Amino acid sequence: AARLAGDAEPRPHDPLLSRTQFRSRQIERAMGQALDQEEFEVWYQPQHGLDDLGLIGSEALLRWKSETLGQVYPDEFIEIAESTGFIKELGEWVLERSMQDTLKLPSDLSVAVNVSGLQMTSDTIVSDVNRLIRDTGFPASRLCLELTETVLFDGTDDLVEKMRDIQFRGVSWALDDFGTGYSSMGYLSKLPIDKLKVDKSFTLCLSTDPAAAPILVAISDLARGLGMTLLCEGVETEDHLNFLKTLHCAEAQGYLFGKPMPYSEFATYVEQEKSDGANRARAGF
Ligand code: C2E
Ligand code: MG
Ligand code: MG
Ligand code: MG
Repeated sequence: AARLAGDAEPRPHDPLLSRTQFRSRQIERAMGQALDQEEFEVWYQPQHGLDDLGLIGSEALLRWKSETLGQVYPDEFIEIAESTGFIKELGEWVLERSMQDTLKLPSDLSVAVNVSGLQMTSDTIVSDVNRLIRDTGFPASRLCLELTETVLFDGTDDLVEKMRDIQFRGVSWALDDFGTGYSSMGYLSKLPIDKLKVDKSFTLCLSTDPAAAPILVAISDLARGLGMTLLCEGVETEDHLNFLKTLHCAEAQGYLFGKPMPYSEFATYVEQEKSDGANRARAGF
């Protein structure tokens, strides 16, 4: 394996250990102490309604600045946290922190928290969510949980029951990265899904891939037919926004509105939105 600059940890002596495996082990090792050392942060990305472009809430996204590894992104560490089971502890922490943070914001704002498929296999997930809601005093109606399509595919009755129990408590469910998983749609009607989050890849390739627009039209019809709210991710340009306005798409999220940001920055964003959001909406963004 290649020698990694500035790495204070033991060298990988096993010649069969690939560079990726070595990196995974480094992450695994560093992750253990990262919560205690307060290296994790929850960042917030704004979500806007397309009716008046008003701010409706945020998505909570994990950030990790490791003392030994530097900035590590969720696309890399979530999978590793799932493989070790650490995601359960981490997932609870994210839920609690996002509810505590969002509680300090105006009461019409919601927060969407990503939940890993592995968390859903826990016997205590329903009671954990209930306990966190009770302990933080956060209204369940302001909480949305996001699950990805791939999780649902091997979704058992057990998963559906847990989702229903949590929904019964007043929490809503969003299906994340919709369109990138499996094409079988039979499960959509069987699951308690309130919102479809169309994967950002569709929005992002609107100007280059002629198939993107008809796919988005079809997904918006599907969402409407099933009575689900539609949110499009990856809204980076005004062209994207203008196209989404022609769909039955209720909500949008993307760099055009804002990138994920630390809580303090998001609180400032909220203040600004509350004071000039209406003016901006009138000006057509
Ligand atoms: P996701 O849930 O689909 O989150 C959206 C991702 O798209 C975020 O990446 C966000 O920064 C990025 N994004 C948002 N708007 C735009 C845009 O306009 N353009 C582009 N190019 N990208 C945009 P991030 O924060 O790196 O997260 C990656 C994934 O990691 C998330 O995808 C989610 O699946 C997972 N993740 C993040 N935080 C958590 C967490 O607390 N728990 C779990 N289980 N998974 C998490
Ligand atoms: Mg609105
Ligand atoms: Mg998400
Ligand atoms: Mg997504």
